[in-house]
Amino acid sequence: MPELFRAAQVAPMTAGHLLLTDAVVVVDGQEIVDVGGVADMKRVYSGPVRDLGDVVLAPATFNSHVHLEMSHLLGVTTQGQGFVPWVKSLVAQPLYALDRARVRAELLRMEQRGVAFVADISTHNASAVGEILSGSGLGFTAFREVIGREVPADPAELLPQVRAVEDCGRGVMSVAGHALYSTSAERLRAAKAVARERGLPYSLHLAEHTDEDGILLTGKSEFLDLLISRGVITGYDAPGKRPAPLAAELGLLDEDTLCVHGVTLTDADVALVAKSGASVCLCPRSNEYIGVGQAPLRTYLAAGVNVCLGTDGLCSNTDLDPYGEVAWLLAHYPELSLSEVLALATVNPARFFARSVAQAARLGSLAPGKLARFSVVPQAVLDILSQR
Ligand SMILES: [Zn+2]
Repeated sequence: MPELFRAAQVAPMTAGHLLLTDAVVVVDGQEIVDVGGVADMKRVYSGPVRDLGDVVLAPATFNSHVHLEMSHLLGVTTQGQGFVPWVKSLVAQPLYALDRARVRAELLRMEQRGVAFVADISTHNASAVGEILSGSGLGFTAFREVIGREVPADPAELLPQVRAVEDCGRGVMSVAGHALYSTSAERLRAAKAVARERGLPYSLHLAEHTDEDGILLTGKSEFLDLLISRGVITGYDAPGKRPAPLAAELGLLDEDTLCVHGVTLTDADVALVAKSGASVCLCPRSNEYIGVGQAPLRTYLAAGVNVCLGTDGLCSNTDLDPYGEVAWLLAHYPELSLSEVLALATVNPARFFARSVAQAARLGSLAPGKLARFSVVPQAVLDILSQR
C-alpha cells in the first residue's frame, strides 16, 4: 500500500510546479507514484500519512564535484590567499593517503543530509573509491583523473575496470582530465576519446583561477614554476589561448563534458561553452575558501548553460553537503529563488549524469516513476530566504 509523505511545502522541481504548499508525495516501495496537494491525494490514495511537519521537502541532491581521496585533509590548507598559497599548503600534505574509513563516514554523512548522487574525482585511488561508492547507497560517477604527459599504447588503460562498480548497477567508472596546464593535450584527448567511445561522462577543471589563464596565455606563472620544480610537468610551451577556447579546440567540450569551476570565463568563453552543450559545475564555497574569485553565474544562466554544483574536496571546503553551495548562492544572488538555485543541485545534474548513469535518470525531481529519494531544505537556507 502506498505511503503519503506530507510536508508544509514540497519542491518537486518539475516544470510548472515550483513550490507546492501543504503537499504530499505518494510513495510505493522505492518509487514515487504521485505528488500533489494533501486534499487531492487523500481522495485518491488511502495509505497512511506520515507528516514531516513544517519543512520544505525537495529531491535528493547531487554533489557533482568532490575529491573523496582527499577527505583526510579537512582544515589543513591555507584559506583565502589565492591559488598558489593554497596549492603549496596542499602539496605539503600526504595528498593521496586514502583514509577509507573517513571516506565511508563522509558518504554516510552526505546520505543523511539528502545527497543521492556523487561525482568523485580521484587521481591515485579511483578504483578504491569506486569500490567504496559501490558499497554505499549512492548513485555515482567515479572518475579516474589523468595528469601528466604520456599516453599509453592502449588508451583504454586509462579507464579502470572495477567489478564492484559493474555489479552494483548504481554508478560508472570514467576518466577525467585534471586541467589544461597540468595534462598534455594528447593525454586529455585520449581520455576524452575513451569516455566518448563508451558513452561516459568526462570532467575537466577549467578556468579555476587567473594563474591558469596566465600559464596558457604566456607560460609565465608562479604556479607553473611550482609545477616544474615538483616535476609535475617538464618544460612548457604556452598555447597562447584562454582555457575555454583551448578546450573547445582540443575537442574536449560536448554534452558529456562537465567543466568544473569556470571562474575566469569571459562572456565570449561562456557563449562558447553554451554552444558546445557542455555542463558547468560551480564550487562557490571552494572558490571562496581558496580565494580565486567567483564564477559568472548570471552569465551562465543567461546563456542557457546547464549549471551544476559541487562542494569540491575537504581540502578546500568545510563539508560535502551541496546545500552549503545552495545557501552561499542564495545569500549572494538575492534575485534568485530557492527553486532556481535548487535546480543546480537536482534537475540540472540529473540531466547531465542521466546521459550515462541510469540511476541519475531516476533522481533530480519528485515525479511519478522517480526514486523516492528526498532531501529536506536546511533551516540555514530558509533563514537566508526569510532575511531577504
Ligand atoms: Zn576539483
